[in-house]
Amino acid sequence: MLVQRCAVPVLAAVTVLTVGGQTRIALDKNSYSLADDIKLGQEASTEARSELPLLNDARVDEYVEDVGAQLVEGIPAEFRHAGFRYTFDVVNQKDINAFALPGGPMFLNRGMMEAAKTEAEVAGVMAHEISHVALRHGTAQATKGQKFQIGAVAGQILGAIVGGAAGSVIAQGSQFGLGTYFLKYGREYERQADLLGAQIMARAGYDPREMANMFKTIQAEGGGGGPEWLSSHPDPGNRYNTIVKEASTLRVQGNADTGEFRTIKSRLAGMSPALTGEQIAKGRTSAGTTTARNVERGPIDVAPPSTQYRAYSPASFLRLSVPANWQSLPEKDVQIYAPGSGYAQADGGGAAVTHGVQIGVVQGGSGNLQRDTEQLVQTFARTNPQLRASGRARRENIGGRAGITTTLSNVSDVTGKSEYISVGTTQLRDGSLFYVIGVSPQSEAGTYEPVFRRVRQSVQLSDR
Ligand SMILES: [Zn+2]
Repeated sequence: MLVQRCAVPVLAAVTVLTVGGQTRIALDKNSYSLADDIKLGQEASTEARSELPLLNDARVDEYVEDVGAQLVEGIPAEFRHAGFRYTFDVVNQKDINAFALPGGPMFLNRGMMEAAKTEAEVAGVMAHEISHVALRHGTAQATKGQKFQIGAVAGQILGAIVGGAAGSVIAQGSQFGLGTYFLKYGREYERQADLLGAQIMARAGYDPREMANMFKTIQAEGGGGGPEWLSSHPDPGNRYNTIVKEASTLRVQGNADTGEFRTIKSRLAGMSPALTGEQIAKGRTSAGTTTARNVERGPIDVAPPSTQYRAYSPASFLRLSVPANWQSLPEKDVQIYAPGSGYAQADGGGAAVTHGVQIGVVQGGSGNLQRDTEQLVQTFARTNPQLRASGRARRENIGGRAGITTTLSNVSDVTGKSEYISVGTTQLRDGSLFYVIGVSPQSEAGTYEPVFRRVRQSVQLSDR
């Protein structure tokens, strides 16, 4: 049998190949199904719609839908996925930002539209976001076990439960839960989204160079920490030049401009100003909701754990009790209990549990309690570089079964302060690992560890 020789060396990790003119982009490895993308995106968009102040202006919505529909038409055939549905909502927020969720839901901040100088600049951001969706970057990134959301935080600890032993189906945890709609991609995916975005623009009838211009505008508006958009879409390097170079290989097909941009801009200008992130956070707090956005602005007041306990049965085989003033926050495959303000969304994204417990099951381990516990901790450590063991692992029964409790320390990305983590594990009958993770600021460990212990001791397992 002849071995065919490739004239072009092929590197396994290279997903962008230049073939003559435009850059050819390939889908990255993805262990999720299309249906997963759709479901995860829907869940997160339901949450986003309930949390974000949507502009709800029919005229403006119609406009972005028109622009979006033209761009969707420009998606190359190989990146059209059955069941993906691109929707476009405008958020009445001043910050220059936009994000898109797996399967298609997109949210555009009013501030982004106000900062744009042309319709094609708005289309540039949208084409970039559409490209992340079409290339399935969210789930592709999760496939690699990488961070899928901004902010390491305890939420990351709690959300880092992808990966682990080869071939194991590990509970995906809060990876896609709270705050998951704040996605942060790596440079390679940013480059891909820029390039595919440029191609989509040209195919739809917009000049891709306008996307490059928009990124310049965004950078210029940045000021201190830079706009949110840049923190979730980091510059892969030479962004402007790369897009302009790609544009030179593309032919803009027709003219998609709706001619409505000026009208929409003046319509927006006639409205009361868009809300700042801070105002949105305040509005939420006064409305009595539990999500604090600007956690960096000061410590969150977290009510001490109630001495009363409430029983829950988050799964058929499991019962446990937690302080009565903690809320039940079911996530995909895991369960979090936390006081109202003990979890938060950091500025620029990321779900953060600063106080509380997470319960979950890791399947497909070795069946050896100690080894699987170490594996679990290593999985956390991969996404939490500051994670350290503190103190020795000790034997402690959970649910009447032999268990191990491991104490760790970490640095919270939310508060920047040291945090205390205890991980209690035991085995289920099928060999999978059951865990109860407690997290609190290090300074409050004295108050919280007894609570975590009581939660662990309350566990009743009835699997067989
Ligand atoms: Zn991006």
